[in-house]
Amino acid sequence: MPTLRQILYGDVTFLEGEEYRAFQFRFLTVLMLAGAVVTGLLLLGVATGINTIDTLHVVSMAIFMSLSLLLWLGLRGRPHLLLKLAWMYEAVCMAEYTSALYMVSADEMRVIWYFTNIPGVYILLGQKAGMLISLATMLGLAVGNAYLPQPYSINAMATLLVALFYLGAFFHIYGARSMSYFVRMRESNQRLRHLASHDPLTDLLNAGAYYATCDQLIHLAQRHHQQFSVLFVDLDHFKKINDTYGHEAGDIVLKAVSKSMLNVVRQSDAVGRIGGEEFSVFLPDTDLAGAHKLAEHMRQEIEDLMPQIATQRLCITASIGIATSDQVGESMAAIQRRADQAMYEAKQLGRNRVSCFATTA
Ligand code: GH3
Ligand code: MG
Ligand code: MG
Repeated sequence: MPTLRQILYGDVTFLEGEEYRAFQFRFLTVLMLAGAVVTGLLLLGVATGINTIDTLHVVSMAIFMSLSLLLWLGLRGRPHLLLKLAWMYEAVCMAEYTSALYMVSADEMRVIWYFTNIPGVYILLGQKAGMLISLATMLGLAVGNAYLPQPYSINAMATLLVALFYLGAFFHIYGARSMSYFVRMRESNQRLRHLASHDPLTDLLNAGAYYATCDQLIHLAQRHHQQFSVLFVDLDHFKKINDTYGHEAGDIVLKAVSKSMLNVVRQSDAVGRIGGEEFSVFLPDTDLAGAHKLAEHMRQEIEDLMPQIATQRLCITASIGIATSDQVGESMAAIQRRADQAMYEAKQLGRNRVSCFATTA
């Protein structure tokens, strides 16, 4: 059973950060449908004799209703057509308002439709189009009034033009303000989300975000029956670097090592700083042989880094432990423990080496 949302909008999904586009899409679909329904009700009034209007305008209303429905059907499920269909609908609306203006003289209030049009134009087509259509409407009314079967009085026309100018100017200022507020809100939300999930020194995932990512990747791997591996990377004698060259030098080394680790892994791998000089790398769809190859490459890259501290280049090395998923349903904590044990073995065997849990078990 389709939900009301599916009936109205079709099957659509919007990415994070596309909130405003999603709003525009929903706004236009509802607007088109509402336009069709309201015109349908007015036509019902004509059919029942309550609404007496010129036959030519009845035809124009029927065309407007049909086009609104067609455009709604065209937009359902196709947000990429938003701008194109919004312009088409605007043209159809303007034609309908102008038809009413010429053919339904008995209705002095019909000019109001030009006013209700302005907010939607600013929302759907933006600032420039809003200004353009506001000015075009003012010009059209001012020039076209003399050609109407029953022109508005000069006083009425002056009020209409001033009110249109006021409405356009108001939406222009309000639109600019609310858009810049929206953009700033979105940017600061993104910044906050990044701050909450990344380590400020290295910009790698922090422990919390890293383990949350691993849990998701484990679910995916289990669903696709894929093996995965975890590397535990610990820098060797790192305390000595801090003690000899100072904490700032240690920070420079941590940043350089993090960068080189990111250069070695695939885009689909996850790298987290889970302790001071301890890192964990999650390798989806990777068996022991693949993980060993990557770990050895990583170890070599770190050894080759030789970061510059003051006048010297320091030799940095790392011990890396590997664990590979071998039991169905094993938790990240359990696999990480095995990688930690393998890393401990690498330390005991003399550091600057790669060790696999399988070889120690
Ligand atoms: P091992 O080879 O056995 O791993 O020796 P180690 O000296 O690397 O081991 P240990 O765990 O004793 O030392 C880790 C050091 O990392 C201790 C701490 O001062 C340093 N450290 C932790 N976080 C930071 C950081 O953010 N910046 C800097 N500069 N140092 C850090
Ligand atoms: Mg350590
Ligand atoms: Mg260490």
